[in-house]
Amino acid sequence: MINQVLEASNARLCVDCGKCVAVCPMAEMYADFSMDISPRGIIKKALSSDYLPDDILDDAGLWRCTGCDAGTLICPEGVSCKDLIKGLRKLAMEKNKDQSIRFCARCGSVVTSLPVSDYIKKQLTGKRLDYLNLCLSCRQQVYMERNTMG
Ligand code: SF4
Ligand code: SF4
Repeated sequence: MINQVLEASNARLCVDCGKCVAVCPMAEMYADFSMDISPRGIIKKALSSDYLPDDILDDAGLWRCTGCDAGTLICPEGVSCKDLIKGLRKLAMEKNKDQSIRFCARCGSVVTSLPVSDYIKKQLTGKRLDYLNLCLSCRQQVYMERNTMG
């Protein structure tokens, strides 16, 4: 299964140029950002023979990504860090390793990962933080219900 994610994201084509790391927003978001949680770091670990196949699914670094796709757009080899991390997260959740996920308080669908959600909440101190507990679709419905009430 992990092999399918590696193939679909072109991870094996990585030439270690570091361009994805240079544009990854996690560098500005997290004070403890390091190569270990960078897109290149995740790719390296996913491909490493030092790692048992399932070890990458336990890696806390998987949950720091925003899914912005910046690294994919700049990659000269067509590697998608977004698809790689998204695919690995899906496998981790299938194994019930879902403690780093925030689910919609209304419909139960996945909203985002906890590290990303915590970062956004810090930026929005004093605003309507309760909306962040909803997925986009439910947030739209709540806005509609609130704004159309007579
Ligand atoms: S930009 Fe592409 S080739 Fe370069 S390190 Fe990142 S994934 Fe690898
Ligand atoms: S998709 Fe994730 S790993 Fe890739 S650049 Fe964006 S935040 Fe970084």
